[in-house]
Amino acid sequence: MPAVSVQNLRKTYGEDVVALEDISFEIEQGEFVVVLGPSGAGKSTLLRILNGLTTPTEGSVRINGEEVHGRRSDVAMVFQLHYVIESMSAYRNALTGALSRAGLLESMLTWYDEDDKHAALDALDTVGLLSEAEQRTGSMSGGQKQRVGIARALVQNPALLLADEPVASLDPKAATEVMGYMRSAAKERNLTTIASLHQVNIGREFGDRFIGIRDGKVVFDGTEEDLTMEAVDDIYYGEGGDDPTEVLSA
Ligand code: ADP
Repeated sequence: MPAVSVQNLRKTYGEDVVALEDISFEIEQGEFVVVLGPSGAGKSTLLRILNGLTTPTEGSVRINGEEVHGRRSDVAMVFQLHYVIESMSAYRNALTGALSRAGLLESMLTWYDEDDKHAALDALDTVGLLSEAEQRTGSMSGGQKQRVGIARALVQNPALLLADEPVASLDPKAATEVMGYMRSAAKERNLTTIASLHQVNIGREFGDRFIGIRDGKVVFDGTEEDLTMEAVDDIYYGEGGDDPTEVLSA
């Protein structure tokens, strides 16, 4: 059974905007998939549907065979903006991942147990921040904050990790570092991961597989080897498009 199965997904906003059109693909357990595409292609809509935050107009998503209807505690999400509580330490932020796992009501009634605390330290170790565990996240760099966000997602112990443009606000060096930590964390845990990126040059060394979306449709599905200059050109510009070197060097 595939870890993720997306069948004939369609999403429209109002009468005129078709954000996704007939999207179908399957993802195997432990695969690290990078979703590429220009701004407005539908990447964010796709991830929000996978996370149960948005309802598709048509089609279905299954995670480990179960159809997604609304938010699931076994799907974790890393967002573009560092979604950390700045007044709290890296450790405290990572611990809050246990709340997402428990569900709101239960999390209001329970304390963190020893397993949660170990999971938080283990996750911070995975993202290279164990020695900064007690540091306030407000005083951390953008890349470090994003790594704390990844640690929190790991503490949630998800079946699926989603990352919506996780490095869009970072400089290339920090972006590459964050992607590297995300990939090694996922590989260490055999965690199925889908990350959307608009920068091809940062994404290409990390994906096992790439899904290219343009105008709400899948226009590419392949490995890094398949992701030639022509393929990139097609994903970003379609036929008769502009110069793809601009995207590659962005
Ligand atoms: P991407 O993440 O690739 O930039 P999005 O999924 O954000 O693309 O957007 C896909 C299309 O859907 C765009 O045309 C966008 O303007 C439109 N869209 C996204 N969210 C909404 C919304 N809440 N209401 C109306 N249109 C939307």
